Amino acid sequence: MSRYAQVALPLPLAATYSYGIPAPLHDRVAPGARVLIPIRGRRTIGIVVAVDDTAPAVAVREILDAPDAEPAIPHGLLETARWIAGYYGAPIGLTLKALLPAAMWDTEDRTAAGRTERVVSLPAERLTLLERDAAFGRKHRQRALYQTLEELGGSAAARHLRDQLGFSDAVIRALIQSGLAREEAAEWIRDPFADTPATPPPSVLTAAQQQAVNAIDALAPGQGALLQGVTGSGKTAVYLEAVRHALMRGRGAIVLVPEIGLTPQTVSRLRGAFGDDVAVLHSALSDGERADAWRLLRRGERRVAVGARSAIFAPVANLGIIVVDEEHESSYKNGESPRYHARDVAAVRARLEGATLVLGSATPSLESLARVPSQLNLLRLPERIGGRPLPPVELIDLRHAPLVAGLAPLAWSEALDAAVVAALARGEQALLLLNRRGYAAFLQCPDCGEVWECPHCSISLTVHQAPACLRCHYCDHQEPMPYTCRACASPVQVMRGIGTQQLERLLAERFPTARLARMDLDTTSTKWSHQRILGAVERGEVDLLLGTQMIAKGLDFPNVTLVGVVDADTGLHLPDFRSAERTFQLLAQVAGRAGRGPRGGRVLVQTRNPTHYALTHSAQHDTDGFLREERRHREAPAYPPSVALVNLVVTGESEREVSNRAAAVADWCERLIAKQRLPLTALGPAPCPLARIKGRWRWHLLIKGPPDDVGRLVRYAAPRLQQPRGIRIILDRDPVSVL
Ligand code: ADP
Ligand code: ZN
Ligand code: ZN
Repeated sequence: MSRYAQVALPLPLAATYSYGIPAPLHDRVAPGARVLIPIRGRRTIGIVVAVDDTAPAVAVREILDAPDAEPAIPHGLLETARWIAGYYGAPIGLTLKALLPAAMWDTEDRTAAGRTERVVSLPAERLTLLERDAAFGRKHRQRALYQTLEELGGSAAARHLRDQLGFSDAVIRALIQSGLAREEAAEWIRDPFADTPATPPPSVLTAAQQQAVNAIDALAPGQGALLQGVTGSGKTAVYLEAVRHALMRGRGAIVLVPEIGLTPQTVSRLRGAFGDDVAVLHSALSDGERADAWRLLRRGERRVAVGARSAIFAPVANLGIIVVDEEHESSYKNGESPRYHARDVAAVRARLEGATLVLGSATPSLESLARVPSQLNLLRLPERIGGRPLPPVELIDLRHAPLVAGLAPLAWSEALDAAVVAALARGEQALLLLNRRGYAAFLQCPDCGEVWECPHCSISLTVHQAPACLRCHYCDHQEPMPYTCRACASPVQVMRGIGTQQLERLLAERFPTARLARMDLDTTSTKWSHQRILGAVERGEVDLLLGTQMIAKGLDFPNVTLVGVVDADTGLHLPDFRSAERTFQLLAQVAGRAGRGPRGGRVLVQTRNPTHYALTHSAQHDTDGFLREERRHREAPAYPPSVALVNLVVTGESEREVSNRAAAVADWCERLIAKQRLPLTALGPAPCPLARIKGRWRWHLLIKGPPDDVGRLVRYAAPRLQQPRGIRIILDRDPVSVL
């Protein structure tokens, strides 16, 4: 009997294509399998989404090959992909594309068989010390190589010995020729994290931690918990223990972290607990490295996957638990199609595969709290480990506080200055948060008020030094620093709004003997730069670490006794419904870095809005109070979680075409809503707060209402929205921002 497969291609297409399955491939071509197919004179990789016996109406071509013995995408993941495509209105092809490492879409298919490498290994019988003296004599390098191989468990890749450990090819060859080691071509799986330090887990859990672990163990498959634990309460140890229990039951685990470069400590704790059972999925991995990690997980040779957003698709075999650390972080939302939220995908995947879900945060999202208790059990860790108090937080009102003179344009209060001086004098470390990178926020003409803006985006250009230029943080447009005003030719231009580069310069002047480090997007562009900076802080080689929100995340440095927030207001007035929530979370997170050691700590927050509820609640460590008040703010006007939201964004290069199209889309949606009697409201169309990015104008339409009805609209509209030439229509369900 002839069989046929429905194949999805990794393209923005909702359609699938029918192909015949040649008899020899019958066993391999199942849903989820990669197949090599001919299309328009080319060969390409597709994924089988269904198999059946009914011949399609038109004649079809045959599948050329199926490279994997087992389907690349296991059942649960394929179902998860279908859910994503339906829920977010994303083409199934693009959704599947996001599921597999890029290398696996390559028709050359270099990863299926694995790469082979020269591996040097010792025979099982090792030489005694006397035999060594005889064998090596004065050949010290060969002897050292022999010992190194021994320490590495008897074998290592030749490349590793040469590139990382500094043995020359000649020494390696000589050892092999003497017959003391042998060389073979073997499949060698690279693990760039093999050398990161492993932190052992705490030996005994606290009573509160143990209670949380018990509650997680008691969850039925597919159920979830929200672990709300103050900063420093030991959430990680709870995750580790829950993961360990899953492994003991013979099941695997996924641990999601917001950004893996910023959380090296979580990785080293996982490695400390589970060693080589951990596969680290890092954005800095090469395509080959990523495919290696993927294969290890798929074959069940590694059972714990840790990584950022996309690690939710890790092909962990027999998945037992998914942990989402810092579940409130907006980096869990994918910025392009499929616009999935990894936390919400985690909930679906856990349900489909009978795994338990653990969401953790000191400052849970309103969305997750709204799922308590119907879908999530709330578990609390109300106290820090060792009964250490949360650090006192003082708000400094920059409108009235005495400032240190001579640091303009930096507003640097005497109080924060004295605190830094005192910390330095005691040999302690301080973190200084300024959530604005670059040298200055913008350049302005003092005579006519002209602000230098990006020619492609409706946003001011940021001043950068070294090299001196104006740069756009949205499209990376750069231009030389101007010396005269383009509007009135005034010869002086002034910088406004201080950024991290300038803060670094001013602090270096103010504290000339302190060892400074800066961490922001500009200092962390290379592969291991995060680790380098954080490692230096950990080893005590840095006195003052300054940086953007990057320094607020998950770090556990006991010698940090002071956290200073240089300007708490940078994100407070953005025209976005999450600006207060973001500000609160950032302050709570960064405050949580202080006082983790026996010396305690304090937090000083400079602000011009000391009575704003995001600031007053964060100064009291009153997360519940903030969440209650924020929840009220989201009721009128209604925003999530009171309602579900879709942001329909229309972009294009012609302003008129974009606004016309946005109006047409709005009409179409209004008619649809009326005809289907959906209880939805549509706001707009209106220009987005960021009205232009990268030369494209942006208009949007916000649709609000009950989740199921929003879902109906998305399902109906997504495949029907025309994408006329030059215009893009983006459907963003559950947006994390509406800027
Ligand atoms: P959180 O993620 O909740 O902010 P961490 O997991 O970083 O907190 O834990 C804070 C500190 O407490 C870490 O240094 C951790 O090693 C330590 N710790 C956690 N649990 C225990 C325990 N049961 N006994 C001793 N120390 C612990
Ligand atoms: Zn001017
Ligand atoms: Zn720009």
